[in-house]
Amino acid sequence: MPSGPYDADAVEEKWQERWLDEDTYAYREGEVDDPNTAFAIDTPPPTVSGSLHWGHVYGTVLQDIVARFTRMQGEEVFYPFGYDDNGIASERLTERELDIRHQDFERREFQQKCREVCAEFEEEFTENMQSFGFSIDWNNTYRTIEPRVQRISQLSFIDLYEQGKEYRKRAPAIWCPECETAISQVETEDDEQDSHFHDISFDVVDAEAAGQEEFTISTTRPELLPACVAVFVHPDDDENQNLVGEQARIPLFGHEVPIIADDRVDMETGSGIVMSCTFGDQTDIEWYQAHDLDLRVAIDESGHMTEVADEYEGMSSADAREAIVADLDETGALLDRWPITHTVNVHERCGTGVEFLVADQWYVEMLDSTDEYLEAGREMDWYPEKMFSRYKHWIEGLQWDWCISRQRSSGIPFPVWYCEHCDEAVMAEKADLPVDPLSDDPPVDACPECGHDEFVPEDDVFDTWATSSLTPLINAGWDWDEDAGEFTMENPELFPMDLRPQGHDIISFWLFHTVVKCYEHTGEVPFDSVMINGMVLDENRKKMSKSKGNVVSPQEVKAQFPVDAARFWAAGSSIGDDLPYQEKGLRAGEKLLQKLWNASKLVDSLTPETPPEIDDEELSALDRWLLAELDAEAEFVREKLANREFSKARDSLRSFFWGTFCDDYLEIAKQRVREEDDASAQYTLAVAHRRFLKLFAPVLAHITEEIWQELYAGTEAPRAPAGDAAADGGFESIHRTAWPEPTGIEADHAAGETAMAVVGALRRYKSERQLPLNAELDTVAVYGDVDGFEHDIRNVMHVGTLETLDEEPEIESVVTGIDLDYSVVGPEYGGDVPDIEAGIESGEYEIEGDRLLVAGHELTAEEFTIERERQFTGEGEMLETDDALVVVRA
Ligand SMILES: [Zn+2]
Ligand SMILES: [Zn+2]
Repeated sequence: MPSGPYDADAVEEKWQERWLDEDTYAYREGEVDDPNTAFAIDTPPPTVSGSLHWGHVYGTVLQDIVARFTRMQGEEVFYPFGYDDNGIASERLTERELDIRHQDFERREFQQKCREVCAEFEEEFTENMQSFGFSIDWNNTYRTIEPRVQRISQLSFIDLYEQGKEYRKRAPAIWCPECETAISQVETEDDEQDSHFHDISFDVVDAEAAGQEEFTISTTRPELLPACVAVFVHPDDDENQNLVGEQARIPLFGHEVPIIADDRVDMETGSGIVMSCTFGDQTDIEWYQAHDLDLRVAIDESGHMTEVADEYEGMSSADAREAIVADLDETGALLDRWPITHTVNVHERCGTGVEFLVADQWYVEMLDSTDEYLEAGREMDWYPEKMFSRYKHWIEGLQWDWCISRQRSSGIPFPVWYCEHCDEAVMAEKADLPVDPLSDDPPVDACPECGHDEFVPEDDVFDTWATSSLTPLINAGWDWDEDAGEFTMENPELFPMDLRPQGHDIISFWLFHTVVKCYEHTGEVPFDSVMINGMVLDENRKKMSKSKGNVVSPQEVKAQFPVDAARFWAAGSSIGDDLPYQEKGLRAGEKLLQKLWNASKLVDSLTPETPPEIDDEELSALDRWLLAELDAEAEFVREKLANREFSKARDSLRSFFWGTFCDDYLEIAKQRVREEDDASAQYTLAVAHRRFLKLFAPVLAHITEEIWQELYAGTEAPRAPAGDAAADGGFESIHRTAWPEPTGIEADHAAGETAMAVVGALRRYKSERQLPLNAELDTVAVYGDVDGFEHDIRNVMHVGTLETLDEEPEIESVVTGIDLDYSVVGPEYGGDVPDIEAGIESGEYEIEGDRLLVAGHELTAEEFTIERERQFTGEGEMLETDDALVVVRA
């Protein structure tokens, strides 16, 4: 091996290039005998909206550890990569990058610009990902906007339509006035916002019949007055029952609306009398449907007032609110106004409060199948288990079917035309997909319903999630076989996929919708297991965000630390929990790399090129013990990684390698080899070292490859040739070797550990006295269980006679000092404190029970603490370890 410290920069880049050149991680279909030997990972396609951030790196490291680990278990891993580049995020990126507005372009022209901008970002993103050395199969990539995926997405739409799982309906839909599109429930979130409550006086039309002239409405949204279509009173509200059946007149606007009883009224809020507008919230929609109310739309698609708002027409809803409040005040209808903070439902992408608009939208029916989707979730293994409850809660809170139509410029078009005369929907032929109805003709000449021959193309596009929810089918090559008249899969062995890794923030978006789509298309649950990672936080456990200025870029970190150090840090996470970015975590990784490098050089120098072949029985007891311990460690790491308990695997392996192997065993072995060419030690070093490299390989991907290639390449047949290069006698990556099988060697765990500790204590004894390591020690007595290891201890440490003691050596507890608690002693004894100190110093004191008698004072227990030390009073010198006492008589 080369001399000098480990040069991570050069090594990491070298292997990243080599892995790519040689297709080391390519999915080798030919190696898959049955579906169970293929391990398919359904990786999250990042939304193309900017650069690589820590969240990507962190999540991908965890996937990559699973991929590398699983390959070493003998499975053929399918580890693809995709980009989600067909949605609002990519549109906004394009608008930002080119400083344009989509409204100013023809749809096709704008889409072209999106493609160009996305392609640039994708290239840069790919390079960044590759510079982290992930074992992704870069031959298996997709983009959600590519024609093959458009075809799959449109096939999905038509299949669900034919199954009766989709419908088009003119109904209130959740609408973002900023993005000017319908959105689905999952895209909304609650936001605490400042607002005002307004008490507004409404006139009763027939005051005589009602027995009162006016009543008060409390609202946060006075701009919706022109959209008011009814007033509601709770049926139990005795005080206001006289109003029910009467009409109310809307202030400023003058139209009259019915006053109706309904138990959805919240009697606790305001006056208990509420106005219903079309539409202010979800309850308004329920009332609209339940009571067959009028439709008065006051706010348009872009958040501006319509003609219903009379003189306020054209104002933004925010401006209209202020103007209406001022006018209400002027006419005396505004009774009161006070500030409040309340929860507003906003579009999660832009933070704009949502509105509800009545429009034709396409929906996937979900509400009738929620039990099945819940059951599907139960059938998957969840890592960590607790994340299932998020999935469950989402389904239980579902109120809407899935609105999949978006009024946007860029995206995958609906393969649908409508009869101009009767509005009948005409679907494209499956064989023709992908189609764009804006430029392609419908597959029929005349409407199958009415015979009319003019059609209107659907110009909406699919919700992004309608396509990204198909990734398992995209990866498995799902398609429609026209001749056979059925759906097929190019790689059926990949579906259902083995693992869906993703962040917890998109359980309701991506995971849920994938289950819905795949389940409806195939009748199967799309994943065997789900692994949910947390977020990367900053050093102070705060969310990283551009506005807070606490974002740490992965590329900046890469300039400073090895990739393997970043991988080590990421592997320190408990799956599902958020992980703070901490440099000390990376520095710990860097130190481990150096330790592994130095230990490897030492092992290399101690072992001959061809290590001796030795039967297990000929191994010395310490060597047998080490290999047995390593068996147990390898099994522990295997079990933890299989359970996605990354930090447990990482921490245990690190401490076993660093403490037991490097600090203890390697030092002993070094001495044995240097003193007497001990073949048993050489054999054990070589076996153990290879194993450590393999156990570290899933986490420390680069350095283990470097050392493996330096020392062991060609000594172990890989499970199957890695690409064409191997055929030329080329490259056998450590990442294509098999996980270590147990040696099966047995040893007494506790006695071996004690024996190691005894040897370590004797080594320290010699070095502290500057004795050579081979200095003879006459007699060593051990109190502790070293049964079976006596010979090794004598041999390694050059001990004449080794005695084992049945009883603890005579030990006395001696007082070595007394500490005063000055916070108590100072105020209590003042000027006498120096005398007390002098008395302790000179030993002129007595301890009686828990009291200290010194300088004429009697100190109580809370005023001092006694320091004691165990001292050996017999012949020789005593050394203490955790498990044993050792007496040396040199
Ligand atoms: Zn929006
Ligand atoms: Zn028709």
